[in-house]
Amino acid sequence: MNVPFYRHDLTANDATAVAQVLQSPFLTSGNVGRAVEDRLCEYFGTKHALLVNSWTNGAVAALLALDIVPGDEVIVPAQTFIATANVAELIGAKAVFVDVDPATLLMRPDLVRAAVTPRTRAIIPVHLYGQMVDIAALQEVLADRPDIMIIEDAAHCFEGELNGEKPGTRSGCAIFSFYATKNVTCGEGGALVTNDTALYERLLQTRMHGMSAGAIDRFKLGGYRHWDMQRMGMKANLPDLLACLLPSQIDTIDARLPQRDDLFGVYERAFADIPVRLPTTIGNSRHARHLFVMHVPPAIRDEVIQVMGENGVGVTVNYRAVPTVTYYREKYGYTSGLYPVSEEWGAGTISLPLFPSMTRDEQQHVIDAVRSKIVPMIETSLASASR
Ligand SMILES: *Cc1c(COP(=O)(O)O)cnc(C)c1O
Repeated sequence: MNVPFYRHDLTANDATAVAQVLQSPFLTSGNVGRAVEDRLCEYFGTKHALLVNSWTNGAVAALLALDIVPGDEVIVPAQTFIATANVAELIGAKAVFVDVDPATLLMRPDLVRAAVTPRTRAIIPVHLYGQMVDIAALQEVLADRPDIMIIEDAAHCFEGELNGEKPGTRSGCAIFSFYATKNVTCGEGGALVTNDTALYERLLQTRMHGMSAGAIDRFKLGGYRHWDMQRMGMKANLPDLLACLLPSQIDTIDARLPQRDDLFGVYERAFADIPVRLPTTIGNSRHARHLFVMHVPPAIRDEVIQVMGENGVGVTVNYRAVPTVTYYREKYGYTSGLYPVSEEWGAGTISLPLFPSMTRDEQQHVIDAVRSKIVPMIETSLASASR
């Protein structure tokens, strides 16, 4: 049996939505996307939402909207996808890494506080694997620096909540990804939500070359209107051709979460008695159950991925610690031991298949592969390490 790492839920019905967009004169951003943005405002309870063509481009648009310039600093966790740090470096700012909590793998407010300097302009907490960073706690340690904007990386956390609050409720903005393996996907895409109207106005420009009006709006109100450009921007808008795939998923996302919860619970019970480490689940929160990860001895991690692959199971790594990749290591001269929790977790973590349409048989196949093939490898590794 082959179990892919991820399988999306889109069906032939979604082709109808694409066919409808094909009948409109402009295939790019228009009424379909605007309707999705309204839906996102409703879902997250925010004043504004903007669709973008990726999390990455949305984050760059946000940093441009804040007028972040070379020399400025953006604090990010060491345990995340490289994009979280890359967006700061892309515009010439410095990504400043902080280590994460050993139990939850989430950014620690005390370490953020210690990393703040006069050049700090933004912080990008990551709701890793689907659990929310405590944004209120982060705001508390930054109480004397209201100029620092919190930009939530909510790529894993569309459905997540903490103390009844969703991403984007109290920060500068939250950014989602609709990349191919995310809980809501249109292949490539993303969205920003915010309650900050001044930021929203600037984002409308930085999302579109810094222009004062979008391509479609130029032809409205009878005659052609010239646009102006007041700030540097990029091309980050999502075309209606992709936006049309989102409404059906937003409608069903809450109904699909119990399926993810269920699969998660089955994995947790199946692995309760084997020597692997799992992240701690936070109380008072709704976990978006984006990724099911476990930590195996770093010495055998790559072999574990290989063996799972040979048994027909798609496994990935989310993620090796960002400061350990060549670009950051060479640029900043990082040595091992600077971000011990992220380095250790990143060296041993693997992610197992998890998606709502996964069948009982498929999940049992994954569990059997772990228990019969991986556990003996772990036991051998642990025995030789303790000798
Ligand atoms: C997927 C992901 C991103 C990047 O999203 P894109 O839409 O591919 O740009 C950023 N951060 C995290 C944590 C992610 O998982």
